[in-house]
Amino acid sequence: MSGKSFSVWLNNEYLPNHPEYSWVKEVSSKSVKHSIECGCTAFTRFFKHQSAFPNYKKKGKSDVKMYFVKNNPKDCFCERHRINIPTLGWVRIKEKGYIPTTKDGYIIKSGSVSIKADKFYVSVLVEIPEAQIANNSNDGIGIDLGLKDFAIVSNGKTYKNINKSARLKKLEKQLIREQRCLSRKYENLKKGEVTQRANIQKQKLKVQKLHHKIDNVRTDYINKTIAEIVKTKPSYMTIEDLNVKGMMKNRHLSKAVASQKFYEFRAKLQSKCNENGIELRVVARWYPSSKMCHRCGCIKRDLKLSDRIYRCECGYVEDRDFNAALNLRDAITYEVA
Ligand SMILES: [Zn+2]
Repeated sequence: MSGKSFSVWLNNEYLPNHPEYSWVKEVSSKSVKHSIECGCTAFTRFFKHQSAFPNYKKKGKSDVKMYFVKNNPKDCFCERHRINIPTLGWVRIKEKGYIPTTKDGYIIKSGSVSIKADKFYVSVLVEIPEAQIANNSNDGIGIDLGLKDFAIVSNGKTYKNINKSARLKKLEKQLIREQRCLSRKYENLKKGEVTQRANIQKQKLKVQKLHHKIDNVRTDYINKTIAEIVKTKPSYMTIEDLNVKGMMKNRHLSKAVASQKFYEFRAKLQSKCNENGIELRVVARWYPSSKMCHRCGCIKRDLKLSDRIYRCECGYVEDRDFNAALNLRDAITYEVA
């Protein structure tokens, strides 16, 4: 059954005969439609073997979302400090000035409210006039992504691995401590000792908040990295098509890879490139960016991961990752993403 026919069946057959579910009608009909569409996508993906069987959202477990759509011209107004959400009315925003306001001519088409670690977030889809594409006349750059350093750019800049920063190490340590405390509370409960359920809930929230904070630090870092790279106005950027899925299967690497957010980096880089008229070139996985000498082009097949310095017989000596970034920049076979 398609999402559309399910919607028809729900409205015409099921709900009239099941008055106990009439609360479905209390929210905006477009929100219901959106939920059905989401369910439809989830099942379609499941039947195509692209993802696992869909499971229900649960309060406190998933970032439960509430969708809203602009129904009439009076909906979805946004001012500097508040937003008008259909069926909810005016809602005050804690972080002011983040959402483009109606006054400046922006139109909010739809949005969603989500909850993460006891905090509510609103995200909106806004229609904005197409931006003028800047003239990017500077040279292209190559970006080599890695686990030791996050990104090595052919213009000489290196972006360190944020997970090695003192700040994140401290947060991780704190997280481990709070997690241990939480599991101890659960164990006590199992043993039948007196532990207040409310205290478990409190501890759970503490852990959630720490997870959220760590995640924010990492996201912020990739946002800043991208912003800085884009600011140099290159005419193109070349990156390697990383096999993130394959790397995740290696359990020695999976945590390190996941925490670096390569996938998010790639997606955000792509959208920033589109916005700024920069060509994003992606070279295939088998391209020997690390194994090739940038000066003479010969390929060193026996290059080990531990070889941090690239030494070629032609006398060329360079940092391994910088050599890779240069090779990426000058790659001639690539796909434009
Ligand atoms: Zn060489």
